[in-house]
Amino acid sequence: MSAAPAAPRLVLATHNKGKLRELRELLRGQVPGLDVDTQVVDAAAAGAPDVVETGVTFAENSLLKARAVAEATGLVAIADDSGLAVDVMGGAPGIFSARWAGSHGDDEANLRLLLNQLSDVPDAHRGAAFVCAAALAVPGSDSGPGREVVEYGQLEGVLLREPRGDGGFGYDPVLQPAGEGRSCAELTADEKNAISHRGKAFRALLPAVVEALRDR
Ligand code: IMP
Repeated sequence: MSAAPAAPRLVLATHNKGKLRELRELLRGQVPGLDVDTQVVDAAAAGAPDVVETGVTFAENSLLKARAVAEATGLVAIADDSGLAVDVMGGAPGIFSARWAGSHGDDEANLRLLLNQLSDVPDAHRGAAFVCAAALAVPGSDSGPGREVVEYGQLEGVLLREPRGDGGFGYDPVLQPAGEGRSCAELTADEKNAISHRGKAFRALLPAVVEALRDR
C-alpha cells in the first residue's frame, strides 16, 4: 500500500507554474521536514479563490493575495506582486505593468508602447528596474494572532531601444541589468533567477517562512 500524500503546508498565491517551480527550488532543504514537491502548492491545488488586486502598491497587492489565500485555506500563504518601474516615468508602468497597453498580459503590445513612449529619451536617462514585493500571511489560531510580513527585491538596469532575446517573459527583452551586456531575455533561467527582483524578495522572506512553518 502506498503512503498517503503529505498534506500541504505552504500555499503560493499564484496560478503561475513557473513561479511555483522557482519557489520550490528556493525552499528545498531550507525547512526541516518540509517536502517541497508535495507540501508547497499553488492556489488552485489548495482550492483557494482568485483574488482581485485592488491595492495601489506592490506591497498592498501581494498582501491582499497572501491574506486571502491564508484565510481561505487556513495554511501559511505567500504571494508576490511585481512590475517594471521606469525612472523618467516616475515609476510607471508599476502596478499597471501587465496591462500597460490596455489588455491584461499582452506582453508584446506593452513592450512596444513603452519603447514608443521612450523613443526620444537619451541613453543616459533610460534607467529602470523590475520591482517585487513578496508577502507572507500566517493565519491566526487558538494559540495566537496571525502575522504578516512583506519584503522587497529590485533588479536595476537600463531600457534598450529594441527587444533582444527569446527567453523570459513580459519586459525581459528590453531590460538590460546593470553591469550586463545582455537583456534579461538573453540570460538563462538560472542566471535571471540569481539576480531577479522576485528571487531577492523571496530570499529576504525566507527566514519568516521558515519560522512560520516551524510548528505547522
Ligand atoms: P506579476 O506580478 O507576475 O503579475 O507581473 C506583473 C507584470 O510585470 C508582468 O505581466 C510583466 O509585464 C511585468 N514583470 C514582472 N516581473 C517581470 C520579469 O521578471 N520580467 C519581465 N516582466 C516582468
